[in-house]
Amino acid sequence: MFSSEVKDLFQSKETPFYHYDLAVLDSTLNCVKSLADKFNFDIHYAVKANANERLLTIISNMGFGADCVSGNEVRRAIDIGFSADKILFAGVGKTDKELRFALENNIKAFNCESIQEIDVLNALAEESSQIAEIALRINPNVDAKTHKYITTGLDENKFGINQIDLPIIVEKLKGLKHIKLTGLHFHIGSQITDMNVFKGLCLRVNEIQNWFCDHGIEILHLNLGGGLGINYLKPDDEWLPDFETYFAIFNEFLDRKANQQVHFELGRSIVAQCGNLITRVLYIKNGVNTNFAIVDAGMTELMRPALYQSYHQIDNLTGEGEIREYDVVGPICESTDCFGKSVKLPETKRGDLIAIRSAGAYGEVMVSRYNLRDQNAPLYTE
Ligand SMILES: *Cc1c(COP(=O)(O)O)cnc(C)c1O
Repeated sequence: MFSSEVKDLFQSKETPFYHYDLAVLDSTLNCVKSLADKFNFDIHYAVKANANERLLTIISNMGFGADCVSGNEVRRAIDIGFSADKILFAGVGKTDKELRFALENNIKAFNCESIQEIDVLNALAEESSQIAEIALRINPNVDAKTHKYITTGLDENKFGINQIDLPIIVEKLKGLKHIKLTGLHFHIGSQITDMNVFKGLCLRVNEIQNWFCDHGIEILHLNLGGGLGINYLKPDDEWLPDFETYFAIFNEFLDRKANQQVHFELGRSIVAQCGNLITRVLYIKNGVNTNFAIVDAGMTELMRPALYQSYHQIDNLTGEGEIREYDVVGPICESTDCFGKSVKLPETKRGDLIAIRSAGAYGEVMVSRYNLRDQNAPLYTE
């Protein structure tokens, strides 16, 4: 996976740092683009997965739109050069300031998640004599069969509008002069690897769309969110997610009306595999039952394992010799600061370079300064 030139580059840099393989990003984007063109789907990259400016510029240059979940993400997307009519703004808790900023910049649409939010947006749009286009984010009560912390489409989750509230909303919208309902939005979770889940989502979306048709409401765009999972277990065997099957399912099962746009908001599947967290071993400590490899990266650089017990493949790039087991842990004063337990590595020693793989999504964006940690600039290779 890593050439000796790349390893030499790693050796010359202060660790820890993020490494981005732009060739992997490029191939991933080209694959998504060609399938999206084939099926006439619109892709909006989910900025929250990785808001690194260099990556965003590459993604924007592909002609993709941006899916944002904060005012500052909207700002970043505009600054990078995403065209405003391809920017969507989602999130359960948009502030007035954020809504105003998005209105001022004439973004494409707001994905609204509650009745009260729609009221507030209507009032703000009235102040500036605008009409805000919205998509209703509907909670379809579809189980994403992923980790419970990253499931978003069940009745018990805070996200989206529940189907029982739809009649009230449709009634209400008739009186809101500064809101135009143009779309329906769904996002049921992340790291979804069971493709049947997406088929189930299509069938539920068709039912919900029919309900709107029956009420005389034309839906101009359907937004299916993101959520396609990646292979964290064996990134080298499958660095390209199965976009082909994913898009083909929507093409087959989604009841798409004439001239209706279909949007996707992919985050993880676009950027996860191009990123690695590169760290050095500080110490080896022999515990009672385990050996600890203490590295200079911690949960401050990659929070996913501490946050939702996620698995990342860990490679020792410089070690050789017999395979041993190590708990690979960081220096932060928290017991959850652990990248992997009983990780099989060639005999590992102080100074070895370690790659924590598949770290391009929800990695660098979550970097924290807890413990007043240093932050090193990423390294890019092509
Ligand atoms: C996080 C998020 C996405 C992207 O999800 P991935 O699993 O990274 O593809 C898309 N849409 C919304 C509304 C989100 O919150």
